Amino acid sequence: MPLLALAALATSFDISCTGWAIPLIQNGPCRPPSAAIGAQAKTKGRGRPLFDTLTLASLPEADEALRPAIRALADEAAANASADVRARSWSGFDPAFSRRLGAAGFLGLTLPKAYGGQERGPFARFVVVEELLSAGAPVAAHWIADRQSAPLILNYGSEAQRDYYIPRICRGELVFCIGMSEPGSGSDLASVRTRAERTETGWRVNGQKIWTTNAMHGDYMIALVRTSGTSEDRHAGLSQLIIDLKAPGVTVRPIADLAGDAHFAEVFFDNVDLPAEALIGNEGEGWKQVTAELAFERSGPERIYSSVVLLDAWVAHLQKVGRGDAATLALVGGFTARLATLRAMSIACTARLALGESPVTEASLVKDLGTAFEQELPVAIGDDLAAHPEEAVDAELYRTLMFVTHVAPSFSLRGGTREVLRGIIARGMGLR
Ligand SMILES: Cc1cc2nc3c(=O)[nH]c(=O)nc-3n(C[C@H](O)[C@H](O)[C@H](O)COP(=O)(O)OP(=O)(O)OC[C@H]3O[C@@H](n4cnc5c(N)ncnc54)[C@H](O)[C@@H]3O)c2cc1C
Repeated sequence: MPLLALAALATSFDISCTGWAIPLIQNGPCRPPSAAIGAQAKTKGRGRPLFDTLTLASLPEADEALRPAIRALADEAAANASADVRARSWSGFDPAFSRRLGAAGFLGLTLPKAYGGQERGPFARFVVVEELLSAGAPVAAHWIADRQSAPLILNYGSEAQRDYYIPRICRGELVFCIGMSEPGSGSDLASVRTRAERTETGWRVNGQKIWTTNAMHGDYMIALVRTSGTSEDRHAGLSQLIIDLKAPGVTVRPIADLAGDAHFAEVFFDNVDLPAEALIGNEGEGWKQVTAELAFERSGPERIYSSVVLLDAWVAHLQKVGRGDAATLALVGGFTARLATLRAMSIACTARLALGESPVTEASLVKDLGTAFEQELPVAIGDDLAAHPEEAVDAELYRTLMFVTHVAPSFSLRGGTREVLRGIIARGMGLR
């Protein structure tokens, strides 16, 4: 009865967005953490009760109700793609699909209606992102603009910038990329050297960015640049500029990753002239703005689901070959339990965002634990398949395993390295 045993296991944990539904987190009215807990979270200092701030919360019914429509779109986009292509969800670049999402109201979920958004909030975004990544739908053409650039422009941009960029982002028409990292400036972001100098009409930019996801497809980069002082001045003198990647003097060179794909690039600026209105917010306040932007990048379900297409493909293999011995069930059950727990933690973070808070420590915790889970999956699945040489394994599953194994090291680098996140967690707990 191995198949039945697996089916029973899958139903009892039932992580539905992966094809398995989750009764652990009941649908129903949202139960966000109480105001008292919110206030407690803002308390600084030693001995802060970190885990008290991550109270179990549910996805509101109104946002759960989005699931059938977004699932249908996501499944349709991924329908003809093999598992190794679906595993590339994060880097899957399909502008037509992103525009369809925009037309269906699945972009700009947290943004005001006045700028073309949906005004629904972080829970709605959680449901949509979870469905897209679980299906392995291509998200790259809208991912960064929707998650980071539009909220940043909303919070710090001028009215003219909001009016121009945000509605286009909500329609899935603009591809943005993040120009933070430089050779020598990754974790130590304050040391960026790319410089913008004032001209009579605006700004002239010289320097280099690296690891810029989607720069080769991008319309605009939001770049962190030095507008005054030197790289020794640390946080002072940094600003954010919107750089048109088609402007004269911009050179984009794709970089191949371990899997042989090229989804990020190095970008060179050679006397790139920008208008005065390229500046976002106030000159010299780039550090404050970029820190807020990173909070958008680290919260959300995307730090849990990078390897989930592989997990699904492997469970399908186990069902196909009829393997359901105790050791296999323990392995599947262990991963399912971790996924369910991480998902509950991520929803708890989302509840804090919905209260207007900024759960920096908790989001770092979810990202660190989430990326560890995402990285351990391909190792364990590879070991499991190697331990069963008698089983015929589809080439598609091998290709998926190969791809996820090759890209998994990047999961704990992108969006902030594991060590840096652990430093943030330790500080949040008052340990350093
Ligand atoms: C797939 C992928 C996509 C990316 N996309 C983008 C993008 O679109 N835009 C962008 O700007 N960047 C992007 N990056 C770059 C990413 O943000 C940086 O790689 C990351 O910030 C680390 O910087 P670094 O590579 O310079 O490493 P370093 O900062 O040099 O770190 C090297 C090692 O030292 C450790 N370390 C550094 N400082 C400390 C410390 N204080 N305490 C303890 N350990 C420390 C790090 O954890 C790491 O293990 C991307 C990276 C990847 C892998």
